[in-house]
Amino acid sequence: PPEQMEPDASKKTLVILGTGWGSVSLLKKLDTEHYNVIVVSPRNYFLFTPLLPSCTTGTIEHRSIMEPVRNFLRHKKTAVKFYEAECTKIDYEKKVVYIHDDSEIKGDVAATEVPFDMLVVGVGAENATFGIPGVREHGLFLKEVGDAQNIRRRIMDCCETATFKDQHPDEIKRLLHMVVVGGGPTGVEFAGELQDFFENDLRKWIPEIADNFHVTLVEALPNVLPMFSKQLIEYTEKTFSEEKITIRTKTMVKNVSDKYIEAESAGPDGKKRLEQIPYGLLVWATGNAVRPVVKDLMGQIPAQKDSRRGLAVNEFLVVKGTENIWAVGDCAVANYAPTAQVASQEGAFLARLFNQMGKSDVIEQELQKLSDEQEKAPTKEARDAVFHQIKENQKRLRRVKQMGPFEYSHQGSLAYIGSEKAVADISWLTGNLATGGTLTYFFWRSAYLSMCFSTRNRILVIMDWVKAKMFGRDVSRE
Ligand code: FAD
Ligand code: NAD
Repeated sequence: PPEQMEPDASKKTLVILGTGWGSVSLLKKLDTEHYNVIVVSPRNYFLFTPLLPSCTTGTIEHRSIMEPVRNFLRHKKTAVKFYEAECTKIDYEKKVVYIHDDSEIKGDVAATEVPFDMLVVGVGAENATFGIPGVREHGLFLKEVGDAQNIRRRIMDCCETATFKDQHPDEIKRLLHMVVVGGGPTGVEFAGELQDFFENDLRKWIPEIADNFHVTLVEALPNVLPMFSKQLIEYTEKTFSEEKITIRTKTMVKNVSDKYIEAESAGPDGKKRLEQIPYGLLVWATGNAVRPVVKDLMGQIPAQKDSRRGLAVNEFLVVKGTENIWAVGDCAVANYAPTAQVASQEGAFLARLFNQMGKSDVIEQELQKLSDEQEKAPTKEARDAVFHQIKENQKRLRRVKQMGPFEYSHQGSLAYIGSEKAVADISWLTGNLATGGTLTYFFWRSAYLSMCFSTRNRILVIMDWVKAKMFGRDVSRE
């Protein structure tokens, strides 16, 4: 493994924020020898988010979809520094990021600053709540490992509390009402996983809850999964109704209290009405919002004044209004959906760009040296020989610099909808393929397996799937 070294003064310092899809895909392909690379993230692992909904019910154990950053950093040619910390502020003028150790154990220094020549912002997004009162206090999100663990614990807590001695029937109904707000892919996949958990395991282990356990998905728009084709939306809605998951579309949540949500929908007379929906578990999945550290950076750059959803970037992913800051993934606005697919392609693009910049820096230094040599060459032959080398290097430089802008190639959208069914909108060479069903489910599984980063993760996920099939999911509450 590369040794820890002091930063090389002849190289630029490249600071990368985050260890999510964008940053990790950049790191994996980056030639680290061209830069002093520093990674800052509050999470010392990469998280394979597409399988996170499966962790909420224990179909997959969370550690199976985590990959320690140290695992792949140690394979890099030159040492990469990793600081487990949150970036609290980016000072664009001073070229400094401020970092803070948020972990339980803190040393004498818990906050400091890191100067950069080049910066990549890959901090992702936070959960949108639209300022709706009570969401943060009472709802559970589904973005990080801790969220999935909280949900898993809460499901079991609701089930056990519902079977507590002398519990009132209304209270039992409330406790076993699992409400999911947001009909995007996160909400749909979670609702499907939860219903599977109930059908396959919970109703066997705790038969008393069988009549009252119920999953409801609440969506403000007229349908769920807006990014999928009409045919697949209908397929999903039909499957949900067969699975006995209730979908409440055109229903917008306005307020959340500890035991019920208040939602606005049109009554039978067409007039808007506010209704109270009691719940035991509330999972809030209404999409992304901009992180404060990103908002603050946007405020420092006049060219970002009109951007609302994140850092506006140009076709080379440079943050508009800057020259040395790039952004990838959910915190960047480049006219693509905030998905893992986009983030990882953006990260890979930046790796190519930086590798090329690193190489061209080396060639330019070489050219400078050659042109000095040419001036000092004593004879015509010597001058000619150097001239030839200069021409060769100029050719190489042109080749290296030939890199087009970022282009996203959409491989398709895929979502699990429960009862071993999945939906897929796949754009292939010949056109679009929209499929749903059990075959698609196997496709979904193999697609995710092939995407799972390391062999270790792949094997762990397969073992979890087999384990859940053989023994059922674990219903103990940690
Ligand atoms: P992230 O992956 O969120 O990573 C952000 C990183 O920045 C994290 O390491 C975080 O710890 C770190 N960070 C946060 N704040 C700071 C800070 N202040 N300083 C430094 N570091 C910071 N997309 C798909 O294409 N297909 C799917 O099937 C799919 N399924 C999903 C399922 C779920 C449950 C969720 C939540 C998302 C899913 N997505 C999917 C979307 C996908 O996960 C995101 O689009 C993707 O994670 C974005 O990558 P990113 O690198 O921008 O951010
Ligand atoms: P989303 O933005 O896709 O969907 C959120 C939904 O919540 C919207 O349909 C919105 O109308 C609804 N909503 C908002 N406020 C509401 C309210 N007050 N009451 C009721 N409904 C409300 O969010 P997501 O599902 O978290 O996904 C975020 C991103 O991650 C998306 O880009 C998505 O494509 C990606 N993702 C992809 C997959 C996959 O490909 N399988 C899985 C998960 C997430």
